[in-house]
Amino acid sequence: MMIVMKQDATAEEVQAVIGRIESVGARAHPSRGDEVTVIGAIGDLEHIARLELDGSPGVDRVVPILKPYKLASAQIRHGERSVLEIGGRKIGGPHFALIAGPCTVESRDQTMTTAYAVRDAGATMLRGGAYKPRTSPYAFQGLGQEGLRLLAEAKEATGLPIVTELMDARDLEPVLEVADVIQVGARNMQNYALLAEIGRSGCPALIKRGLSSTLEELLMAAEYVLKEGNENVILCERGIRTFETAYRFTLDLTAIPVLKELSHLPVVVDPSHAAGRRDLVEPLSLAAAAAGADGVIVEVHPAPEEAVCDGPQQLRAHEFARYADQVERAAAVAGKAFRAATTV
Ligand code: PEP
Ligand code: MN
Repeated sequence: MMIVMKQDATAEEVQAVIGRIESVGARAHPSRGDEVTVIGAIGDLEHIARLELDGSPGVDRVVPILKPYKLASAQIRHGERSVLEIGGRKIGGPHFALIAGPCTVESRDQTMTTAYAVRDAGATMLRGGAYKPRTSPYAFQGLGQEGLRLLAEAKEATGLPIVTELMDARDLEPVLEVADVIQVGARNMQNYALLAEIGRSGCPALIKRGLSSTLEELLMAAEYVLKEGNENVILCERGIRTFETAYRFTLDLTAIPVLKELSHLPVVVDPSHAAGRRDLVEPLSLAAAAAGADGVIVEVHPAPEEAVCDGPQQLRAHEFARYADQVERAAAVAGKAFRAATTV
């Protein structure tokens, strides 16, 4: 249920409603908008209905949330977009995030060269995997803790917040030491225990859409994190499986406006994993930015030919500044900027 408070409701009235919701074992999720405060009441519907909050002091109306994802729904924020603040950077609303970095952390030199290149080009955050989900168990699985150490060094040197993947809840503690955003990979999108653990950690999460997942399933994955009281969730479209074999995955650009209609959460696009080819990354990034994405997350490497994984799709570090200029122009078409948002 969603309790919409009156415009002139007092803080005490809001608190009283929250107290009553919690008194029946339900959870209250207040969101204070510019105009009104809305309180999401998540729990046993009958118990909440019995409270008869309609007509309580300060309450304007009580409306059911019809979607199965409650906290992720656009309804709960009354149509307002969530703007997340991560390491001094904003994402969502007018703030576009250019997240860039290597597929995987391979060495100190590779990580630092890439980090400086993307920072100098105005990137918002640095991505890089220390734990890699690989289709083959024989493929390079990431540097693990050593990779995290290198990411920490890159963060210290550039000031860029770090986006890195967590695959196994047992690695949560070391990942939390460096991650500003924990990435949930496409293959783990429905790993509910992992999602709940990240929710409890309070660390912002970037959840990638599964290869064959519907938007509703993606939003339900986000709900697992939100339900634990962690409001910092970013949705990521990264291409889905279709009958087409000419490229790695089909980037579902339609997901951008539709997710933004269904949810208040920021939506970013990963054109690198969708395309699997460097030459497609820029046109797809421009399309995503112009279509209103709240950011892109792209792979960059100083020497993609030598990359341990995903070489063919990684942008060349020395070409990244030109790419960033193009993305900035496309983002402006949708009324978004990222360079201004990078100043702390
Ligand atoms: C990645 O971002 O490094 C990655 C493996 O992506 P995905 O989970 O989308 O395949
Ligand atoms: Mn990759």
